[in-house]
Amino acid sequence: MPPLIPIRFNVHSRGVRITAFIVILFCQLFIIGLLLTADSCSGYYQKGQQQSAEQQLAENPSVNEKAEKTGKPVQTDPNPKNPLVPSDEIIWSVPSAGKRVALTFDDGPSKKYTMKYLDVLREKQVKATFFLIGRNVQKSPVLATLIAGEGHEIANHTYDHYIKKISERVIKEQISRTSRLLKEWTQQEIKYVRPPGGNNRIKMKSVAAELDMQVVMWSVDPQDWKKDTTPAEIIRTVKKQLTPGAIIVLHEGKPQTLEALPALIDELRQDGWDFVTISELLGVS
Ligand SMILES: [Zn+2]
Repeated sequence: MPPLIPIRFNVHSRGVRITAFIVILFCQLFIIGLLLTADSCSGYYQKGQQQSAEQQLAENPSVNEKAEKTGKPVQTDPNPKNPLVPSDEIIWSVPSAGKRVALTFDDGPSKKYTMKYLDVLREKQVKATFFLIGRNVQKSPVLATLIAGEGHEIANHTYDHYIKKISERVIKEQISRTSRLLKEWTQQEIKYVRPPGGNNRIKMKSVAAELDMQVVMWSVDPQDWKKDTTPAEIIRTVKKQLTPGAIIVLHEGKPQTLEALPALIDELRQDGWDFVTISELLGVS
């Protein structure tokens, strides 16, 4: 075995001094870099918080006034039309979406009508959101597959379409059972649920949150499900109630709705409205 030779550096050598200088310089640059990154991250976070507070004040100036009067920070009232629509709030419309509007169809699929609705939407190149009833999907699951296959968004409208006076446990069953079915036949993640008739929505909101879903209502309702509502009335009411980021509720299986649909789409387009799904309206897809 060769004798161990101690390694010795000649610290006075010019090469070693230059190397040491470069190493120290890199270390310093690295530390400065780390400090700058940490600073910019916290700056970004604070900026985000500040923007959201500014937005809240812009949307609800009374918050500022109340805070000034009481000297205490004021909690914003739950505002269903808040454009940000936090995930624990019910969605009525998304005003920040501007001239975009979501067409939604409840109560399907319908053996007699779904394909006819799909034909119109395909021809007009409109993507909509279908709130399907679990019981109806069970009867015609292939229709749910076809709706999803055309690129429409699939959402949950409970299994039995009856939600009055029922417990949270039963609501949860109604939603979960339908979501499982929808997922199986459409391969979509089911993110939204709409209470039948808009009933019991507060109870449904907490159940939806547990299931990582959100309750979607509507801001435009032409009452198209009523037999005596004419196609012209449907179009007139929609145009009258329309606001930025509106959600229009329509129903499957209604001849008057089917008849109104092509002209409704054309007229809204002429007025500069774009049609999007609920996820697109919320900016999450
Ligand atoms: Zn319904």
